[in-house]
Amino acid sequence: MFERLGLIGCGLMGGSFALALRQAGLVRQIAGFSASPTTTQRALELGVIDVQADSAAEAAAGADLVLVAVPVAATEATFAAIRSALGADTLLMDVGSTKSDVVAAAERALGPALPCFVPAHPIAGKERSGVDHADAALYQGRHVILTPMATSGARQLALAQEVWAAIGARLVEMTPAAHDTTFAAVSHLPHLLAFAFIDGIARQPGGAAILALGGPGFRDFTRIAAADPRMWRDVLLANRQELLDQLRHHRQALAQFEQLIEAGDGAALEQRIAQASDTRAAWHMDSFKPGT
Ligand code: NAP
Repeated sequence: MFERLGLIGCGLMGGSFALALRQAGLVRQIAGFSASPTTTQRALELGVIDVQADSAAEAAAGADLVLVAVPVAATEATFAAIRSALGADTLLMDVGSTKSDVVAAAERALGPALPCFVPAHPIAGKERSGVDHADAALYQGRHVILTPMATSGARQLALAQEVWAAIGARLVEMTPAAHDTTFAAVSHLPHLLAFAFIDGIARQPGGAAILALGGPGFRDFTRIAAADPRMWRDVLLANRQELLDQLRHHRQALAQFEQLIEAGDGAALEQRIAQASDTRAAWHMDSFKPGT
């Protein structure tokens, strides 16, 4: 049980964490701060937080658990703002979609408070951001990736594992580099492709009329293109090296398919499609087992 959660960034991810903690009876009081007072006010109205803080440092002061749930580009400034408000035993986590940049930001900004920090990335979310979409069940049954640092306190790491497990999440530990390579492939590249795909159709002559006739396959393929632009700008830039590597793999695969189509090589095309189809048919979300 935590006495006080300091929530910095009262949006979808932070708000969902607060609601889940409250529903599980794991926290006595939640103090929240967001960039704009209207968001913090809305979080109060929705019962996501109990107390509106006027600054990140005020939200963190006296909290035994602090969650930073802001866009990744705002992480370093947030760490710098709260570092002197953190107690020696405080657990500090983030929820950012990229990890190497967040770890580097922590190393630059947290100073003596570095042992408080356990980096985290929940593999959960929605296309719609904002506190109005916060959901106590968002993390239920979903993976949460922890990328502990050598400096993370043993007590903080154990508490981080406990709190995510208590709200129904399934924990996986990785290095920040392995995390960023993996999620460049299965999250960041698919988002980039979805944005570019919609953009490519919309800019064609008659694009709007073409889009209007998309069916269920189109809907499923492009769902993630409706995601939050600012959040994804930050993520794509923060993990740019890994993303560019994945883009190169993707271009290669696309070029190979293109060649087969140009050559009219039906047998080879069918074989490549069959391989992809079998791989996708055997895939199940959240089927990861440690050591695989
Ligand atoms: P969100 O709903 O837009 O929430 C972000 C919140 O951060 C907003 O309340 C925003 O305040 C606040 N904020 C922005 N800059 C701030 C600053 N400098 N100081 C304090 N508060 C600040 O976005 P989200 O989806 O929860 O994303 C938050 C984090 O979760 C991001 O790092 C993202 O990479 C990560 N994440 C998102 C998903 C997803 O599917 N959405 C999944 C996994 C991880 P205002 O409303 O006042 O602007």
